[in-house]
Amino acid sequence: MTIRINEKKIVDLISEKKPNLILFNAPGGLIKQTMKIMQMVEKDYGIKCVYSGDTCYGICDYSGYDAVRLGADMVIHIGHTAVVKSVNNYVYFVEAYDDVEFDTVIEKAAGMLSMYKRIGLATFSQHLHKLGEVRSKLERMGFEVHIGKGNNLLQAGQVFGCDFSTVYNLKEVVDAFFFLGESEFHAVGIALGTNKPTYMLDPYLNEIINMEEPARERMKRAILAVYKALDATKFGVITGLKEGQFMKQRSEWVRRKLELHGKEVIQLAMREITPERLAPYTEIEAFVQTACPRISIDGYNFDRPVLSIPQADALIRLLEGRDIGDFMVRPKWIELTVGLLPGV
Ligand code: SF4
Repeated sequence: MTIRINEKKIVDLISEKKPNLILFNAPGGLIKQTMKIMQMVEKDYGIKCVYSGDTCYGICDYSGYDAVRLGADMVIHIGHTAVVKSVNNYVYFVEAYDDVEFDTVIEKAAGMLSMYKRIGLATFSQHLHKLGEVRSKLERMGFEVHIGKGNNLLQAGQVFGCDFSTVYNLKEVVDAFFFLGESEFHAVGIALGTNKPTYMLDPYLNEIINMEEPARERMKRAILAVYKALDATKFGVITGLKEGQFMKQRSEWVRRKLELHGKEVIQLAMREITPERLAPYTEIEAFVQTACPRISIDGYNFDRPVLSIPQADALIRLLEGRDIGDFMVRPKWIELTVGLLPGV
């Protein structure tokens, strides 16, 4: 894997902003490269750098408040990009590109998936620069290729793990989605968010992976958690404290709805929502968390239901006597607040 971080952008930002202290953060896979850049910045420009050692799973983890507390003049967030280029001209998003080629895997896909004619093409930040080239190649192979328009957050064809709004708008005009990259996390999100056949085209293993089974398995668990929560009388409603996931009003809305249906609610706020963090709240029978929906949908082995926003909506539908609905099929599972850093 060759990842190229856009170092020129960092150097340009330094020349323009002339900071004394920079806070860097990046996803786990880019730590080593980011450390090297920090050393270069310290040595060549005499600027102090600090690396944010907290988890950084997405663009929502941008560490703006931490930087303020540390007295940093700016944040360089590497590896997650969007239409938004900065938050308050204080947190800057710097691209990291993956140079892997897709030629072999798309030839394989063209053979295996020739039953689909109309394809929706999507990817995540690191392969976005390959979309146009792959589109042309697939068109030459006879496919009709669609790339979803960008919006106020996502670039054309881009998806996050909680936001599929670019591809969602294509679901009626395509037969299937091809996700470019090696991230089942994103590919399965497209399958769940659109309810369309979705295939991950992995350029490293040259494999085509059908997302139907992983999506069905997650859906089954998501539904089970909703029905388990239905029987609970005491709920914990958790507001996530990571900047981009901070949804206080949504938490309050969930609280009001649950109380309206006779549930007792304790409100909590935390940065990391893990089984260990929830273990001490033994009296709570079920949780709703309004932070990253993937905490509930993919990851952890929680011993009690921990519902994401779409699952909470499904629970409320059931409490109101309606059917559970296609609750995961929607353009986005949370409304990220990237681009806001109140008070800075
Ligand atoms: S909230 Fe969205 S962008 Fe942030 S880590 Fe979760 S899926 Fe990714």
